[in-house]
This record gives sequence, C-alpha cells and structure tokens, in this order.
Amino acid sequence: MNALAILQKYYGYHSFREGQKELIDHIINHRDVMGILPTGGGKSLCYQIPALLFEGLTLVISPLISLMKDQVDTLKEYGVSAELINSSLSQREFQEIIINAKKEAYKLLYVAPERLETDSFMELIGEIEVSLVAVDEAHCVSQWGHDFRPSYRRIAKMISSLPKRPVVAAFTATATELVKEDIINLLRLQGPFEFIGSFDRPNLYFEVRKSRNKFEELKSYVKEKKAESGIIYCATRKTTDEVCERLNREGITAVSYHAGLAEGERSQNQEAFLFDKAELMVATNAFGMGIDKPNVRFVVHYNMPKNMESYYQEAGRAGRDGEAAECILFFSTQDIMTNRLFIENGNPEADHSGEYQKLSAITDYCNTEGCLRSAILSYFGQQNVYTGHSDESQAAGCNNCGNCNNETEKTDITIEAQKILSCIKRMGEQYGSTFVTDVLKGANTQKIRDFRFDNLSTYGIMKDYGKDMIKEIMAFLIAEGYLNLVGDQYPILRLNLKSYEILKGNLKVEIRRVIHPEVKAKRAEKPIQEELFDRLRLLRMKLAREHEVQPFMIFADTTLKEMCQRYPCTEAAMLEVTGVGERKFEKYGDLFIEVISKYVEENHIELQGIEEDSDQEANSSTKQPKKTAGKDSHKQTYALYRQGLGINEIASERNLTPMTVENHLLKCAEEGLELDFSAFIPSLYEEQIAAAIEACGVEFLKPIKEALPEEVTYTAIKFALCKYKERGIKQEACE
Ligand SMILES: [Zn+2]
Repeated sequence: MNALAILQKYYGYHSFREGQKELIDHIINHRDVMGILPTGGGKSLCYQIPALLFEGLTLVISPLISLMKDQVDTLKEYGVSAELINSSLSQREFQEIIINAKKEAYKLLYVAPERLETDSFMELIGEIEVSLVAVDEAHCVSQWGHDFRPSYRRIAKMISSLPKRPVVAAFTATATELVKEDIINLLRLQGPFEFIGSFDRPNLYFEVRKSRNKFEELKSYVKEKKAESGIIYCATRKTTDEVCERLNREGITAVSYHAGLAEGERSQNQEAFLFDKAELMVATNAFGMGIDKPNVRFVVHYNMPKNMESYYQEAGRAGRDGEAAECILFFSTQDIMTNRLFIENGNPEADHSGEYQKLSAITDYCNTEGCLRSAILSYFGQQNVYTGHSDESQAAGCNNCGNCNNETEKTDITIEAQKILSCIKRMGEQYGSTFVTDVLKGANTQKIRDFRFDNLSTYGIMKDYGKDMIKEIMAFLIAEGYLNLVGDQYPILRLNLKSYEILKGNLKVEIRRVIHPEVKAKRAEKPIQEELFDRLRLLRMKLAREHEVQPFMIFADTTLKEMCQRYPCTEAAMLEVTGVGERKFEKYGDLFIEVISKYVEENHIELQGIEEDSDQEANSSTKQPKKTAGKDSHKQTYALYRQGLGINEIASERNLTPMTVENHLLKCAEEGLELDFSAFIPSLYEEQIAAAIEACGVEFLKPIKEALPEEVTYTAIKFALCKYKERGIKQEACE
C-alpha cells in the first residue's frame, strides 16, 4: 500500500495538504526531515503514515499529554494499534504496555520526553526495532524557543543508543531561523529535508477591538454567536473567574480553566467544552496545549497576550476544520502594563530584553492600521502574499481582517502628530509616554516644574485632548513606524527619520477613528440542510458516548456537512465523503446511511444529479476538489443556456441529467448571472410559493415544500428563493 492509499483507507481524505506528501516521501525513503507546519497544518499525518508503512515501531515524542491521548484515541478509531506512555499511567499499565511493545503489538508509541530519563524505558527501546523517531513540538529543544524543555536534550542521546539508527523527523509550528538551526543541531538530524509551510490560515478572520467596556462588548459578541463553540482567553486567573461568572449570570453557558482550579474541576470543565456541553471556555493560556477541537468558531482574547507566538498559537485554535472562524483581540493600554509586570516579576537573573521586544511587537500589531494578516505573516518571516509590496502603505490587503474590511473614514491627524513629536524633541527625547502626555496636557506637577518643562512652547498644547487619546495617537505613531520606542523596562520615545518628515510637513498622518466595524460577509456558504445536520449530530453524540470518544473523532463537522450536501446512501457514495475511511465506514457507516436515507425519503429528495453537483461545490479547505476539470461546469451549462438551448437539450448535449442542469443554472442565478426565472418557477404556483416563503421564512426548505402542492419541486422553490433574494437586494438599493 502507498501513502495515498493509506490516507484514503484510514483517514478518508482524498489528497494531501501542502508539504505533507514531500515530507512523507522523504521519510519513507529514509531521509531525516525538519517540518515547520502551522498549527492545524496536518503535522501528525506526516509521521503517522510512514509509521504504518514501516516495519517496526515509530516512537513519537510529545510534551503534550492531552494531545497524545487524543491522537492515540483517534488512531484506535482508525483501527491502528497505538499506545502512550506518560505520567498519567499507573505502574501496572506501564508494565503491560512494555510487555506488549516487546511483542511488537504497536505501530506507534507516544512518549513524554521525561520518560527518556528512566532506565526502564531506555532498556525497553534497546530491545525493539525502532524505525522512526518523530519529535513533535521540536522547538522545545531550543532555549531560544518559547517553550524550552530540558528533557528534550536527551532525545539525541536516546537515538544514538539504539542498535540501528532510525529515521528522525522533527516537527514544529513556530520556529525562527535560530530555533530551526538549534533543532537540527541538537537533535543531530542528518542532512534533513526541510519544509516550511505557509503560516497563513485564510479561513480565520482577524480583528483588534479597542473597547471602553470590554465585558459589555464581549457579552454582545457571544450572544450574537448563539450556540457556537468559542474560547475566551484572559491574562490572569482572576479575570478568568470574573468573566466566566459574569457570563454565567447573563445566562450564557461557560466553563473556566486555569492552573488555580483543582485538577478534577479542570478536567471536568475541559470535558464539558470538548463534548459540546458548554459552548464557551474562559481560560488562561494554561488551556489549549494539545487541544484539537476542530469546530471552535471563535477565539476572543480578552487581554493582549505577551507575544505574537502565543497569540497566533491560541488564536489558531479557531477553525481547525477549515471553516470560517474569527479571532478577536480586545486591546487596552492596561494590557501593556499587565504584561510588563509579568516580565518584571519573572526571574531577576535572566535577561528580559527579548521578552520586551516581543511585547512591543504585539503592541504594534494591536495598533497598526495595516492588514492584520500581513502583519502576522511578516512577523513570522513569511513572504507577504497579501501586499505584494515591500511598502505596506501600498497594501492591497487580505480582505478578511478587521483593518482590510474597515470602511470607516480616515481622519487627518498630522497636526496632532506634529504637536506630540515636537514636544518629545523639546523634552530631549529622554522620557516615556506618560511624562510626555503630562507635558502636552499641561499638568501641574512638581516633576514638570523641576525640569522646567512648563516653560516649553508645547506645554499644555494638547490640553483639550483626553490622556487616552494622546496615548492612543502615540501608540499608533509607534506601530506605524513614525516614532521609536527604545529601551526595555522603562522605554523612552525617540524621533526617527519619518518623525522629521512629519515635522517638516512632508508626510501626512491619517488614522481611522471608529474601531470595530461589522464583520463582513466572506462566508457565503452553501446552505446545508440544518435538520439533517442536527440529526447526524445527534447520532454522533450518541455514538461518542457509547464509545467514550470525543464527537469529532467519529466524524468532523465538515464531514457531516458534506453528507448533508451529498446525501450518501450507499457504501460507495459514503466512502467518497471527505473524512470517511474504510475503517470508520465499517464502524459507523450504516448507521449514518440509515439516518440519511430516512431523511431523503421523508423529503422526497431526488438523488440523481446530486453527486456530480456537490462534487463541484465542495470547497472546504480540507478537501481538494476531486474533479478540477469540472470546476466551472455550471458556467459551461450557462453558455449553452444563453445560446437558447432548453434544459433537456443542454442535458443531452453535456451528458448530464436534467436535474444537474437545473442545479447548474440555479448556481449561476445565485452567483448573480442573469436568467429568466419564469422558465423554472411554474407561473400557476408562483403566488403560492411567494406566500409560503413569506410565511415560513427563508431558512429551511422543508416547511415551504410542505406548505405547497406536491407537484411543486424543490428546484422551483430554490429558484423562487433566489429570485426574491435578488429582488430584495434591488429594492434595498433603490431605497
Ligand atoms: Zn487584512
């Protein structure tokens, strides 16, 4: 069996994602690899598939207990023999695993790095054939990473003690050049193939909100999200408890997680969130390492985190299933102070300059008015695909972040900027933002009098502005590179070349005032049959309880949604659905087919034609279109339609069913292409259809269908919906 066959058989995917194939190919050809793939980029497949292809055992070293457990459970669901060794095992369980491992009962064994320090484990692996060592979270080996683990330093020694050197594969989600070199050297990789994946996650929407009342804003945000799954990160345990409590008082189901809670309570809350019993998780950064819940629809940061690495990792827990998800950061200047305190209270011996630099980078992210996605990508040293320019003011933007989608007017603040810069200059470029603000406000303090700053021409020059406003403008100037902030613990403001250009009047400064725009579309998803989706989810929940696994380990939301679009009622059709492998089909396939068939029958859904149509509609990022040639198939149909051919003529010309042709044209109509609706909506029933839509709403088709005579088809209703939607838009435009 080859890698692709395994992918299909076990995982139910039909093609590899970026980088996976190359990494797997090199591993199975016995070359070491170094893979830098973003969170959610499918790292684990890269060692799991070679593990299945190799003779002997694959050791996976991972520091994340919950991730190990999830992966082992998931592998077992696929029918792969895998086990884990970490501190959660009893001595007896440990012995049992050792005995089985010696009998070569496992393909994969997950091990916590601390185990490499124990004799019993080192003895064991000396006796079995290890063909691959996969090191997950490999940045932990480096002191320059953000998560150094001393026991990772043992890995190279362990490998060299094996009778035969296995292939070594290292993976991480974030690594600067320095960390990457460290990984290669310290793990002693031999001429590794390197792959650096794109860090971009196009399905994530990024936004920074500067809010006066964070809680009120959070409340209305989560209420809007209704029953969707989300994580709210707070900077401290205290804030975590407060936010969770206040949400509960508002009748919103939220649970909390932080290191101050008892072990039992923590795991109970985590469980409730993972099993969709509680929609919201309010947590400190202690939560989430190794959590791989695919259907998290939003991650809110109630406070600014300490660096971009943490932010992107935490925010990246949204939308793992590839569907649209939101990452919102609530920023206030207080967050900078909190983070400074964290750093100051850290190890007094250590050099904190790196931490201060990282803090100032994320502060800039919060204050920039450029594309947020571009800011993230360029922080991680990735080529900026969204601007295509080195000059960011020329940015075209990603069209899916708070700044790119912001349509508020810009305000010219050149004069304000000049006042601030000139004041900094007159004060000798020796002070931080608070003292400069005091002088600009004309504060009556001893310190100002001592320095005689009350004699400056800029003293009190901004007395009509709020302190917050002045500081906000300063932060903006820093973020956009119009002003420098230097020094770590007590940073001071210094002018740069751009500052002088502003002072000379050669450079205009503009800022957007209204901060949080409405989240704009970009999520025109094909409607799915909500009712069927609910039924499938219910079945999944029941099975998850029976098998004691998390729901997504049975089938992901995306897989269920695809079922709702394709109505697979046979084994062959079911195996075509992304995420349905042979093993899963054996276990669950019939049960899902039963529910779908029943639904299809109840709703008189004609299956003919759906297959082909949904094939071209499939667009989730986890799934590559299977027939790329047919991607614009509906447009070919449309071309024939414009030539005046009838439905049946087009059908025979294109070798399609008439229903597929109608679906193609419906798709064209939805895309705004012009066509004559009267050919598809029987005039006899048009008024009745309109009334039924009026009465039942546009969300679900079934009630509309039921309110109408039998002979009115679903297709007719869909065309009618499309027509009224279009008319509605035109009316709005006229008003
Ligand atoms: Zn953008």
